[in-house]
Amino acid sequence: MPDKQIDYIVFENARKGSKYVASEIASRIKEHSRQGKNLVLGLATGNTPIHVYQELIRLHKSEGLSFTNVVSFNLDEYYPISKESSHSYNKFMYEHLFAEIDIPKSQINIPDGSINESDIEQYCRDYDQKIIDAGGIDIQLLGIGRTGHIGFNEPESKINSVTRIVTLDESTRIDAASDFFGVENVPKRAITMGVGTILKAKKIYLLAWGEGKSSIINRTLESPINQSIPSTYLKRHK
Ligand code: PGA
Repeated sequence: MPDKQIDYIVFENARKGSKYVASEIASRIKEHSRQGKNLVLGLATGNTPIHVYQELIRLHKSEGLSFTNVVSFNLDEYYPISKESSHSYNKFMYEHLFAEIDIPKSQINIPDGSINESDIEQYCRDYDQKIIDAGGIDIQLLGIGRTGHIGFNEPESKINSVTRIVTLDESTRIDAASDFFGVENVPKRAITMGVGTILKAKKIYLLAWGEGKSSIINRTLESPINQSIPSTYLKRHK
């Protein structure tokens, strides 16, 4: 398949862009519900998706949007980390979305940062299989890191990489330092969906808000596909 440019939309501010993405998600949830089908959502953490989650919560509370037919798979989680840790992405998702909507707990999937090291490989294989068994991801939300990482697929990740344990780039750990009260407390590793896993999603929204993201977005759009900027792999999405 030939590589192509990534379609993009520029918004006046994060709130307007987030509203747009949330309304796209809401329409697909309702459409699938009318057809008696689940909608499989790939979800991201970090500052980027927070307004999208706030808008989805508003749609749930004020406009009756139901998430009972949503199955979710989160992109990544630090390793090692306990689910209860205030820094875990598990905690983040409950605080910023799941506790406020009606998605059944049994339909929520977040990589578990507390499993035994010896079980990780099988756990990651099972995570990818669970996505396939759910019918594949319909809509994937992504942020982007300074390095061009998507999920925690840092530079040099392969285009066909699967869910796995990775070592975080120093710049990624520095960016997370304030959340952890110092870079020395940021875990050195994480479990992440692979680039190949992400590219299988039927639709992908990569969100990037503000001036801080402009340089990496510019490099993503202007550079040919290359493994030193993993976000350029999105040009290979069908
Ligand atoms: P952010 O992180 O949303 O906190 O900017 C994005 C990322 O690193 O993927």
